[in-house]
Amino acid sequence: MSKSSVIGFPRIGSLRELKHWTEDYFAGKLSLTQLHKNAAGLREQHWLWQKQKDIDFIPSNDFSFYDGVLDTACFLNLIPREYQDLGLHDTDTYFAMARGYQGEKGDVKALAMRKWFNTNYHYIVPVFDDDTEVRLNTDGPFSYYREAMKLGIKTKPVLLGPFTLLKLADYRGVKKAEDFAGPLISAYREVFSKFHSLGAEWLQMDEPILVTDLTQEEIGLFKDLYTGLLTGKEDLKVLLQTYFGDVRDVYREIMKLGFDGIGLDFLEGKKNLQLLEENGFPKNTLLFAGVVNGKNIWRNNYEKTRKMINQFTAKITEENIVINTSCSLLHVPYSLENEDNMDQKYKNHFAFAREKLQELGDLKELLDDQDEEKNEKYLQQIALRKTKEDDVNPGIQKRIKALSEKDFKRCPDFEEREKLQKAKLKLPVLPATTIGSFPQTAEVKAWRAKLKKKELAPAQYEENIKKKIAQCIAQQEEIGLDVLVHGEFERNDMVEYFGENLEGFLFTQKAWVQSYGTRCVKPPIIWTDIERKNPITLKYSTYAQSLTAKPVKGMLTGPVTILNWSFPREDISDKETAFQIALAIRDEVLDLEAHGIRVIQIDEAALKEKLPIRRADWHTEYLDWAISAFRLVHSSVRPETQIHTHMCYSEFGQMIKDIEAMDADVISFEASRSNLAIVNSLVEAGFQTEVGPGVYDIHSPRVPSKEEILKALKGMLGKIEQAKLWVNPDCGLKTRGETETIASLKNVVQAVLEIREEI
Ligand code: GLN
Ligand code: ZN
Repeated sequence: MSKSSVIGFPRIGSLRELKHWTEDYFAGKLSLTQLHKNAAGLREQHWLWQKQKDIDFIPSNDFSFYDGVLDTACFLNLIPREYQDLGLHDTDTYFAMARGYQGEKGDVKALAMRKWFNTNYHYIVPVFDDDTEVRLNTDGPFSYYREAMKLGIKTKPVLLGPFTLLKLADYRGVKKAEDFAGPLISAYREVFSKFHSLGAEWLQMDEPILVTDLTQEEIGLFKDLYTGLLTGKEDLKVLLQTYFGDVRDVYREIMKLGFDGIGLDFLEGKKNLQLLEENGFPKNTLLFAGVVNGKNIWRNNYEKTRKMINQFTAKITEENIVINTSCSLLHVPYSLENEDNMDQKYKNHFAFAREKLQELGDLKELLDDQDEEKNEKYLQQIALRKTKEDDVNPGIQKRIKALSEKDFKRCPDFEEREKLQKAKLKLPVLPATTIGSFPQTAEVKAWRAKLKKKELAPAQYEENIKKKIAQCIAQQEEIGLDVLVHGEFERNDMVEYFGENLEGFLFTQKAWVQSYGTRCVKPPIIWTDIERKNPITLKYSTYAQSLTAKPVKGMLTGPVTILNWSFPREDISDKETAFQIALAIRDEVLDLEAHGIRVIQIDEAALKEKLPIRRADWHTEYLDWAISAFRLVHSSVRPETQIHTHMCYSEFGQMIKDIEAMDADVISFEASRSNLAIVNSLVEAGFQTEVGPGVYDIHSPRVPSKEEILKALKGMLGKIEQAKLWVNPDCGLKTRGETETIASLKNVVQAVLEIREEI
């Protein structure tokens, strides 16, 4: 009998219930007891769904109120002093670490938050101080295990492994990761024996960091940790779980350490199959084979999966193979059942988390019954893929085929263009601008909601938006900004808006995926070839430009960002899709230029999102085509047309040169939350493109003073040539209120005026 396993299940609630309850708790509208009670109901539901589908290894402790890494930190008492000193009860200390605390007990900022590997999920960064005392602090994982036992479900508790924990953490004192290895081994051993005494059979240790580039020292630390942990672990079986890539640096070490199960991702971990074929697999060990995609929403291709599993069986006996998800299902939405408006013809092709449980069951069945030609589901699957015929758009395919080198190269070179643009645009030194959006007031959102419900006529909606644009242009002129924007009032979201106006995208109603804490995103699905049928932004951009003599930036979302914030196709490569989107946006750029728009910003907010985990794969697997896609968008504009781009998160490190290769004329960065660290990287890399590092953090309603901005600007001017520097706030003004936005921008402009006097 084959077996199936799930690495982790989503936890935000099928309809984001947990988000709403948690936010109600923050607002004082729900009691702590009720919050815990509701959450228990959610966990019960998740276990029962998995039980109904006969999953053999059902996870527990995959639930979290905010983030699983933060849960681990609290569980192991990694609670920095400043949070302990607030004297709050456990749950509130936990939320204080996640979101900061400002109230009668004190004023403490949140812990840092970082991107979780190559996903759009974000984790809270644990902190080790010199006086951190590692010990078991909460009952969480044990209580979840008991909770499931009460339902008669023996779960596989999931823990973040000590190696990944140490590698992801920040160290504020002189002590380093190695110094905490001993205490962590003791603590985890205590966890093992506690689970053993509770009757647990298997424990899953998540060690995704094993798929990153590791040094010999790091591998040494990993070996020390697990040698310590696995010696004398009684009868408890330990599964080492990896995901998001392959374990090429440590495969042999892993095989020698004596795990009872090893979890490998065969979808993103391209080298894993080869490693297994070349090095074999230990006897009496279960292979948890990640073959059901935890990141994308297309139905599993049973034929392909079956073939892949057949390849394992050369090395591993079939009963030692467990059909697994490739990573936690956290990264896909809950269920297709919530999509009332989606036609069944589309739904047939998708599997969200709950439908993936069914797939695990089907695959199990298939494996047991080798005669696939008689298996109904198998045959249905093959037939299904033949029904999706509208993939190909011959016109687009032809355009892609016809592309040649010159389509990716803008002429003349940057230096030449810079001169021409300075002469044409005649901007003052340190031009002041914003990143695009202006506050989306309740009124604006209400118009859009009414338009959707057909309670507002399109013509009336358009008139309202135009009024907002006119107001916004007048405000910017009064503030004294140099390059203006139309304000993006017509857009709900920078990707959804373009998706809705291009052929080839599908939209869901409730397919939410957790991004961080209580925040979720609803990525569109790329269904077929992408095509732009009509201009998208021309109407509002040209209208805005008609109201002012100052340049108004045309505002577009770039191809890589549109792709990275959508569910991509699996039948063609990301490169191909990126090029299709690039051609659509390129047409838009040319239309804007032809209609008098002199400055065009093509946002690549999420360029870094899918950067491969391993350095060696950066160019070959991603940057070569991602940067090319961007170049394709703007390569044929006139030299005087100024192309801007914008990027979120400023930690680019060794990628800076690649960003320059995008060949934009001006790049703005989200920078203020990382203390303008970007400025140093730019200087080190000898960056030539003009730059606008965000001068103030827009993530809080606080209004920065003129002095503060002056100080930030002077700091930048000490490092960046005056002729290269732009002045702008960080991105995302749409989330702010109007009053604080105007006040802040006034201070920005006042600071710029003062500096211009001095230079
Ligand atoms: N143009 C967008 C804005 O200003 C960019 C958003 C982003 O960077 N995420 O809102
Ligand atoms: Zn941004």
